[in-house]
Formats: sequence, C-alpha cells, structure tokens
Amino acid sequence: MSRPPMELWIEEIQGKDVRLGLRAKTVLHREVSEFQEILVVDTLSYGRALFLDGTFQVTEKDEFVYHEMLAHLPMMSHPSPRRVLVIGGGDGGTIREVVKHKEVEEAVLCEIDPRVTAVCREYLPEVASGLADPRVRVLHEDGVSYIKEHKNSFDVILVDSTDPVGPAVGLYSPEFYAACKEALRAGGIVCAQSESPFVNGDVVRRVSQSMQSSFPHRLLYLSPLPTYPSGFWSFTAGAGQPLPREVSKERAAALATRYYTAEVHEAAFALPPFAAALIE
Ligand code: SAM
Repeated sequence: MSRPPMELWIEEIQGKDVRLGLRAKTVLHREVSEFQEILVVDTLSYGRALFLDGTFQVTEKDEFVYHEMLAHLPMMSHPSPRRVLVIGGGDGGTIREVVKHKEVEEAVLCEIDPRVTAVCREYLPEVASGLADPRVRVLHEDGVSYIKEHKNSFDVILVDSTDPVGPAVGLYSPEFYAACKEALRAGGIVCAQSESPFVNGDVVRRVSQSMQSSFPHRLLYLSPLPTYPSGFWSFTAGAGQPLPREVSKERAAALATRYYTAEVHEAAFALPPFAAALIE
C-alpha cells in the first residue's frame, strides 16, 4: 500500500480562532536563545521565514513591504537623516533600507539578541545584507537602556520590535518615547511598527498614546502584510513638527524600492475611518 508523502506545515496561532499556515520544505534552523525561540523554515510559497517565539517576523516574499514602509516614510520626512538608530530589527531588513539613503553617515542597530543577527546573516543573507555596510554599527544591547544613555544623537529612530511581550514591553511605554525625544536632534523623527489595526487595536492606541506627550505630531499609516496577523499592518511616526505629505520624487526614486514611492508616501496620509477611530 503506497501512502501519500507527508506534508510539513508551519503555523502561527494568530488568535484564539485564527491560524496562518504555510507548507514548508524543511526546517533550516531551530534554537532557544537567551531571549526567545528562533526558527527558520523554508516554505514553498513565501521563501525562507524567520519565526521568533512562534510568530512570523520575516518572510523572503513579503518582507520588503514592511521594511520599506517602516524605514522610508520617516527617513524621507527628514531633510537630511545623517545619524539613524534602529532598535530591534536584528534580521537587518530595516537597516538595509536605511543605508539606501546617501545622506546616512552612521546607522546604529541596537538588537538585544545576538543570535537573531547571527542566524539571519546565515539563513537570510539578502535581508541581512545591509549589516555589512561600513556605516552600520551593530550593538547587542537592550534598546530601553541604550536610548536613555544617548542624548541629542540621532535624526531618525526606528523601532522594529517584536510584540509587546518579554524584553520588548519597555519599547511601548511613554517613558521610552520621552527618552527617544531626548535622543533625537532638532527636527528628529521616531517611527515604530504598531501592529495590526484589525486585531491589535489596543497596541495601535497604546503606541500613539505613549508618543503623545513627547511628539505632538503623529501619523498612523498602514500597509498590507500577508504573513502578519490579519494581513494588514500599521506604523506610527512621531515628530515635533508636522510630517510632510509630499516628498521629493527624485529622492524617493533613487532608493530603488519595490513598494515605497513618493506617491505611496502621500497615500499613507489617507487613513480609513475604522483605523482613525483607534487613535481618537
Ligand atoms: N518585523 C518584525 C515584526 O514586527 O514581527 C520585527 C522583527 S525584529 C526580528 C524584532 C527584534 O526585536 C527581535 O530580534 C528582538 O530580539 C528585538 N527586541 C525585542 N526587545 C528588544 C529590546 N528591548 N531591545 C532591543 N531589541 C529588542
């Protein structure tokens, strides 16, 4: 009797009644670091995928949408982002986008878990490619402590963190954003991934509220993200001045992006009412 070949599926439990599953070819790497379980799987439809503690972080197929939207909207909103800090983001995708900006003189990656960086360098080399840029300095420190020790140092801070659990909890607090304000130079901009407007409305609200007293001007913007819960994601940018709706088409085109453009930037200011209601 012949049996059908066994299928390997990898699933993220995205809610009590919702799972996202991808059929996988093989498990490439699995370990438990000091901070989390790290898993890299080769999937049939989304390429290689990084999971931390059972949640999708990056897939080769859709990561460009997330990394371009987290990096370029705030970077393009600054006239000359020379010093940039990324907190979290150990896969390197956000830094890869940051160093596309020719104005950048130094980009610091402050990732708490050295194993995430090492695993991504090995198994997701294209995503991690920006880490090799000579302008990039990789630090393995807690972003919550690092930010308190650096005043008046950065033009843009990008918070590319995991969900608000474990070591990431402090990255969602008003105290953290007050420290970000102190760490920014005049005209500086902060931007954080702020989870799904469909299923994490509480986090969307929390990020906006935590920024509020330090950053009077905030922009909640959205993008599709097929492998994140609900397939729809949010980002929240904060600044002391209004963020520009229109940005230079030439400067944006020079970034050689696959999702972000000057037109996508402008469209990000159109917020559907259900999402706007989350931050009212
Ligand atoms: N794109 C992803 C997402 O939204 O699911 C985030 C990717 S990135 C891999 C998240 C990183 O944040 C993890 O590698 C984690 O180790 C790091 N992280 C969590 N808390 C941190 C902290 N307090 N300081 C620095 N890095 C932190």
